[in-house]
Amino acid sequence: MVSTPELSYTSAVSSVALLGDTIGTNLERTVARYGDREALVDVATRRRWTYSELDVEVDELALGLLQAGIEKGDRVGIWAPNCAEWVLLQYASAKVGAVLVNVNPAYRAHELTYVINQSGLRMLVSAVRHKTSDYKSMLSQVRGQCPGLSEVVFIGQPSWQALMEAGGLGDHQRLRERMAQLSADDPINIQYTSGTTGFPKGATLSHHNIMNNGYFVGELVHYTAADRVAVPVPFYHCFGMVMGNLAATSHGACIVIPAPAFDPAATLQAVQDERCTSLYGVPTMFIAELGLANFADYDLSTLRTGIMAGSPCPVEVMKQVVSQMHMREVAIAYGMTETSPVSTMTRTEDDLARRTQTVGRTMPHLETKVVDPATGLTLPRGVAGELCTRGHTVMLGYWNEPEKTAEAIDAARWMHTGDLATMDVDGYVNIVGRIKDLVIRGGENVYPREVEEFLYSHPDIADVQVVGVPDERYGEELMAWVVMRPGTSPLTAEALRQFCSDRLAHFKIPRYVHVVDGFPMTVTGKVRKVQMREAALEILGLQPR
Ligand code: AMP
Repeated sequence: MVSTPELSYTSAVSSVALLGDTIGTNLERTVARYGDREALVDVATRRRWTYSELDVEVDELALGLLQAGIEKGDRVGIWAPNCAEWVLLQYASAKVGAVLVNVNPAYRAHELTYVINQSGLRMLVSAVRHKTSDYKSMLSQVRGQCPGLSEVVFIGQPSWQALMEAGGLGDHQRLRERMAQLSADDPINIQYTSGTTGFPKGATLSHHNIMNNGYFVGELVHYTAADRVAVPVPFYHCFGMVMGNLAATSHGACIVIPAPAFDPAATLQAVQDERCTSLYGVPTMFIAELGLANFADYDLSTLRTGIMAGSPCPVEVMKQVVSQMHMREVAIAYGMTETSPVSTMTRTEDDLARRTQTVGRTMPHLETKVVDPATGLTLPRGVAGELCTRGHTVMLGYWNEPEKTAEAIDAARWMHTGDLATMDVDGYVNIVGRIKDLVIRGGENVYPREVEEFLYSHPDIADVQVVGVPDERYGEELMAWVVMRPGTSPLTAEALRQFCSDRLAHFKIPRYVHVVDGFPMTVTGKVRKVQMREAALEILGLQPR
């Protein structure tokens, strides 16, 4: 008999059932149970809400939206850094069945116009300004090109107060009636993915998609009403509004907003002052926090758990988060906007090696497989291929882009992630890179991720990214972009080669080293490797192939 190798496929069972709630009903259940517990703290503006208080303001805003004529299915946008109003609008729009469109706080006029028109925004709730962006003046520039946008409300301005006041006079019965017309499968959120080429695509997510993802993320880190979750990641991305807000509110936990935009010192200060039990971040955020000169002065002893996600999580950083930030139950989550976002996650009971070296196992009630990108066939365990995910978290589709949806989600409803992964015999998944980041040097496949992991063990390296650059002889060569630790001298290619020799196969040793202060990043903390590859050509004086 020929033995068949076990294939890279898992489905995850759970004794906890999926929720059938809409987002509004789920919030109301929490309010009924935990009314007097704290729900939301906006540190920058020193405002705080209990669940009962939050409920009152969410309803006021929801009634304001009804008074403004917002119908079920209308698109309402939010363009603001993290603030309490973002959270209020998230729940109020869900209650009236409006599709919340998250507009990236870093967008400028060109992208803003595209997103307003592509989603068909009827109303936009906007900050007045943020960092170097003057939102108000950008909006006045583009309004003429956005005929469908009938109302703009500015947070903290008379237009916001008017919306809330109109809501205060509204009739609760109307809100009840509207909520009774909503289905958990309705689209409720559009998130534009940070595409590196072309225009962004609007991943369209239902209540069911994001409600359950938030709920199960919270379940896996064992949230209860005693938890206080510091959310320094942007709300405009799933990491903030789903893994942060929905995970917290579905468990009666408190959302703590340390600052409008990420700031390492403000984050640790908020953890200390608000006695947070959980902290989120993409890897670079944790690196920045751990690297603060006065890191040791913060009292982080209340931390129990947290989540690192969004891009490859270096093992060394994970270990420091456990040992120096007290986050003994920290989890790694892997996912993408199109899947609400989390597809796999480590469990608190996993051993330290698995919690730091893998992205965990399939989330409850989901399926994961690794396929050969050429044939679509499921690969044996341990063999790298494209990760696919299926289940209640897969988006409804890209807003008004059926062809792009069909390229991403196949006929059997599998989402093709574009990520290269392996799955071990126990179902633990390792992300080895993006299909398009794979470097082929002299016929050898090199996963930059593996080289980066190794280079993190260099004592002088604080952060590192590896990209492929063209090479006449080998097709491609590796280039390491390195951020040095304070007080160390810049690394040379020669010194790096010495460090790697005997420890890394010769074809994985970077030929070039480029010392930098930081990497080009998206607002969600993703390193822009495409931009780095372009810059590399100029830095090294190479021609594109
Ligand atoms: P986004 O849709 O902006 O959330 O980006 C999703 C992409 O981020 C995924 O397709 C992965 O390439 C990457 N990503 C997210 N989480 C992880 C993780 N834990 N490890 C490695 N890559 C990740």
